[in-house]
Amino acid sequence: MSIDYIVVGAGSAGCVMANRLSEDGADVVLLEAGPKDVNPFIHIPAGVRTLLYNKSINWMYSSEPEPGSGGRRIHWPRGKVLGGSSSINGMQYVRGNSTDYDGWAQRGCKGWSYDEILPFFQKSEDFLEGGDSAYRGRGGPLKVEEARTILPLTDLFVEAAQQAGFPLTADYNGAQQEGVGYSQMTRMGRRRASTAQTFLAEAKGRPNLKIETDAMAAKLLFEGKKCVGVSFRQGGQMRELRADREVVVCGGAINSPHLLQVSGIGPGAHLQSLGIETLHDLPGVGGNLSDHYVVRIAHRVKNAVSMNQQARFPRVVPEVIRWVLRGDGALTFGATSAMMFTRSREGLSSPDLQLLFAPVSFEPNRKNVLERKPGMAVAICPARPESRGTIMAGSADPFEPPVIRPNYLSAESDLHVLKAGIEQTRKVFAAPALANYTEGEVRPGTPMDTIDEVREYAQSQGTTIYHPVGTCKMGEDPMAVVDSRLRVHGIEGLRVIDASVMPTVTTGNTNAPTIMIAEKGAMMIREDAAA
Ligand SMILES: Cc1cc2nc3c(=O)[nH]c(=O)nc-3n(C[C@H](O)[C@H](O)[C@H](O)COP(=O)(O)OP(=O)(O)OC[C@H]3O[C@@H](n4cnc5c(N)ncnc54)[C@H](O)[C@@H]3O)c2cc1C
Repeated sequence: MSIDYIVVGAGSAGCVMANRLSEDGADVVLLEAGPKDVNPFIHIPAGVRTLLYNKSINWMYSSEPEPGSGGRRIHWPRGKVLGGSSSINGMQYVRGNSTDYDGWAQRGCKGWSYDEILPFFQKSEDFLEGGDSAYRGRGGPLKVEEARTILPLTDLFVEAAQQAGFPLTADYNGAQQEGVGYSQMTRMGRRRASTAQTFLAEAKGRPNLKIETDAMAAKLLFEGKKCVGVSFRQGGQMRELRADREVVVCGGAINSPHLLQVSGIGPGAHLQSLGIETLHDLPGVGGNLSDHYVVRIAHRVKNAVSMNQQARFPRVVPEVIRWVLRGDGALTFGATSAMMFTRSREGLSSPDLQLLFAPVSFEPNRKNVLERKPGMAVAICPARPESRGTIMAGSADPFEPPVIRPNYLSAESDLHVLKAGIEQTRKVFAAPALANYTEGEVRPGTPMDTIDEVREYAQSQGTTIYHPVGTCKMGEDPMAVVDSRLRVHGIEGLRVIDASVMPTVTTGNTNAPTIMIAEKGAMMIREDAAA
């Protein structure tokens, strides 16, 4: 079979790519390092907690010990399965702020202003609640729904936020992001809507689409500076495939720059130090790493039920029955049930803080263990962080994991935003609507009046909410890796299309923006092929 396109990675972007490139008859091969998405916990929304440390479907990365994380390694899960991270994520559907995209355009990304990307968000989704058709989409492959079971604590939080002076927004993915609103999820009824179960499911019967699982790309193959194929490992054997048109790398913000580097595209001096022959010296590959680093404020709950109780025997039994019979209840819960977008200070033109509420609390310093006593918590996220890190190959061996240095809190400004977020969250918890439902703050439980106090708390307790981006950034400047049509600078026949191309992280979670990028990227590939 001759192949038009090889797509590397079947994650949020790769499944969209495989669908859109194969829909008009082009021959496409999709290579995925992980297995099929048969693990049942992938499909039960509340099963997300079991996926974070499951190495059969998760790359299980961790960051280097650094000052920003107090010398701790931070666990970085990434999906290694059909659907990629969309198969293991918290299912929050958040598009970001219009100014994120206008900012990309301002940085030289032609065609990426908000007005130009909005149609691709709309094309991709099927929003059950409909929403304002000027912003929202119906009939696309990606199912999006509002949260089904939120517990009264969530209503109380939303009410308390308004009492504390924050406006209600009916749809933070519509006309107004700013304010407090209920979570929207990539979910279809009782089941997770990963890109594998939506985009790929729609396309997988096509004779011109071949899906290879347990197939890890090891190197890109070149003739001169033209990418002509991929060498990959499957079932212990090395194999090669060649593409007549293009290779599209959709390996995600960690693996895409890594694959480029081990294939000879990256910062020349670093590649040489590892003994990798430099095919093309592109200094930005693996740089510009941006992630969302959060701290949590947790409260002990009284007079109300939290997920801490619902996830345990005996309350979990009726929840399972509800999920089976009605497709709602605690098992449809993802990561959070309400969120706020706010500004850390006056004078900003749009929010730089995301505050994510969950009617549940976890044991500090333990792997994802629920507290025995009922709790609720807010994760405070500087949504437009200025700290930047790197992802660098640590060896010429493509099967060795890359070295992750997020450099959290290296920009002092991120601490100031965190401090403002802590103050705003405390204001909400102090509002009358929650007064009868909290026994008080259990974490941090100490004053956070100075930047040093915030720094100490963030260094000892901060963690990722899993949104690394930017390591193959789009643009025209010397550190850009791909151009505005997502073609790798200086190389023919090769694009990178996934979260790694974002020049800056969006104001919110990153799955929906990645899917939008893939929708637009696929359209550009088809346009260029037709030209
Ligand atoms: C635990 C967790 C929770 C999250 N929660 C949310 C949330 O609630 N809402 C939200 O919007 N975002 C969330 N995110 C982030 C979001 O899921 C990601 O930003 C998004 O999925 C990134 O998409 P991607 O296509 O860039 O990469 P991925 O979806 O990670 O896809 C990359 C794919 O490529 C494959 N691959 C990599 N290297 C190779 C190779 N060499 N050969 C073959 N295949 C390869 C991988 O196995 C994977 O399947 C979360 C992420 C995680 C990990």
